Amino acid sequence: MHHDKIIAELASKNDSQRPKIFELALPQAAQRDQSGFFPLPATAEFDVNSHIDALYVHIPFCTSKCHYCDFFSLAGHLDQADAFLDAMGKEFELHVAHFGQASPETIFIGGGTPTLLSPDALARLMGQINKAIKTDRLTEFTIEANPNTFDIERAKVLRDGGVNRISFGAQSFSTAELAVLQRDHNPESVPIAMDIARSAGIDNINLDLIFGIPGQTLASWDHNLVRAIELNSTHLSCYGLMYEPNTLMTARMKRGEFAPAADELELAMLAHTRARLAEAGFIRYEISNYALAGKACRHNVHYWQARNHLAVGPSAAGYHSGFRWKNVQSLTRYIDALNAATPVVPVTEIEHLTGLSRWGEMAILQLRLNEGIVLNDFQQRTGMDAMAILHKLVQRYSAMGLLAVRDGAISLSEAGVAVSDTIFADVLEAFAQFAPRQRGN
Ligand code: SF4
Repeated sequence: MHHDKIIAELASKNDSQRPKIFELALPQAAQRDQSGFFPLPATAEFDVNSHIDALYVHIPFCTSKCHYCDFFSLAGHLDQADAFLDAMGKEFELHVAHFGQASPETIFIGGGTPTLLSPDALARLMGQINKAIKTDRLTEFTIEANPNTFDIERAKVLRDGGVNRISFGAQSFSTAELAVLQRDHNPESVPIAMDIARSAGIDNINLDLIFGIPGQTLASWDHNLVRAIELNSTHLSCYGLMYEPNTLMTARMKRGEFAPAADELELAMLAHTRARLAEAGFIRYEISNYALAGKACRHNVHYWQARNHLAVGPSAAGYHSGFRWKNVQSLTRYIDALNAATPVVPVTEIEHLTGLSRWGEMAILQLRLNEGIVLNDFQQRTGMDAMAILHKLVQRYSAMGLLAVRDGAISLSEAGVAVSDTIFADVLEAFAQFAPRQRGN
């Protein structure tokens, strides 16, 4: 799935759910420099002995803009690809100078549509990445691809660069539903693209699917699931359609051109997804993500485990030791900042989560995962006893069948997934409420 989607989802939910008691301090040194950008967070403030586990790379080009999309992606700017890659090369160099040469376990190239880049441009990108990192710990290297912009030449370049997993934005196998989303591919292009990936030796393949598309029925959603299973994907990301502010889809919905799917239908689709995919051997390991055994997306699990990750490219968001920062969301400003005489990483947002706000956020991220908050691990990473903080809430929600405590972990039940937003808000609140007592000790 889109990295951006995870980050945006977390950021927006966290912002609305974060109790006001949490103060998100700007790091002390975070004054904008002469270029108008924030400096990268100082590594001296990072946790001791903590690794960079993941690298995200954002490529913002798309052929056209899908109507529901609020990711940072631009149609019709491919003529700037060379200047963009010049800038990205500089950003990698600045990252190496600042953070050292990272040894990530996972890499994810997302967008946008990274495979819109030409084979030569992709080869250049592979070279930049491989120069900037050490690959001794690397196990998973994913790229997002549009079924329409994938061919054997690109597949071989990516494979030679180390890519071993591809995530295709299939979204639906119904021509009518793809038209509603204004996707530029058709259902037949998905199996063709998957065959190309496999013929290049890349057989670990995710398909993104969207449910709750206007006009979609439970039967047509089931057809999409069955088709994805037939195609032998190893991983499926199934997200409900979101009406983000400022998208064409939202504007059309507000104009009354169509009605959003009813909540009851979406809930039925959610329940059906779990049942249908379980039959086919897929395990739901996160609220919206399903994988065959051993095929969970390690990169995304790093996000849900609040592991440190670097991020390169416009709008990309990095995280390390409670620091979270985001690059400028503009192609022109990104290129200008990095291709300047004195290049800078164009950071436009930075925050430092500390103490209980940091651990509360980690708790709700982990609750998204099927394994939930593993109490021993949580204690080891944070020094906090999550059960001591959450015991009242756990009692209340366990009695309602929404949370379960087993094998030393707190996790959402099936019913809890459907109301996860409310539970997450209460978890954050519980961490916030714990703070005053802590200070009094
Ligand atoms: S292909 Fe993906 S990033 Fe590009 S416009 Fe469509 S949804 Fe957005």
